[in-house]
Amino acid sequence: MKCPYCGNTETKVVDKRETAEFEATRRRRECLKCEKRFTTYERVEHIDIVVIKKDGRKEPFDKEKIRKGVLRACEKRPVTLEQIDIIVSRIESDLRKLKTTEIKSEKIGEKVINALKKLDKVAYIRFASVYRSFKDVKDFEKEIKEIKK
Ligand SMILES: [Zn+2]
Repeated sequence: MKCPYCGNTETKVVDKRETAEFEATRRRRECLKCEKRFTTYERVEHIDIVVIKKDGRKEPFDKEKIRKGVLRACEKRPVTLEQIDIIVSRIESDLRKLKTTEIKSEKIGEKVINALKKLDKVAYIRFASVYRSFKDVKDFEKEIKEIKK
């Protein structure tokens, strides 16, 4: 990392922080020669993910779509926007870690369902029933019974 002031290549990191949504790491650096400070951002290069829908059509991955779905499921639930953003960001980063760039929409739905299951049972049921991803009807009934208790 070159110092933008004097061009010296020896710098030290004085502060490191993950920025919102875990997309970039912000580092405060200090030049070892002129001692001036500057900021760098380390960003993951975005790979374009293609979503394969149930009918076989393909569309570009849209994080906002997931966010909207989660928001809808969490309506009037004790869930914060921050928690929702964390879930969506984690799902996105999980998807980017996969070897393939073409992902079935069901797989994304499953990830959302699993995340909501840990967060809020009602939101989980709402989302899962919309996506009809319950593998087993009995599972669904069991979950509903648990909520009614
Ligand atoms: Zn310098």
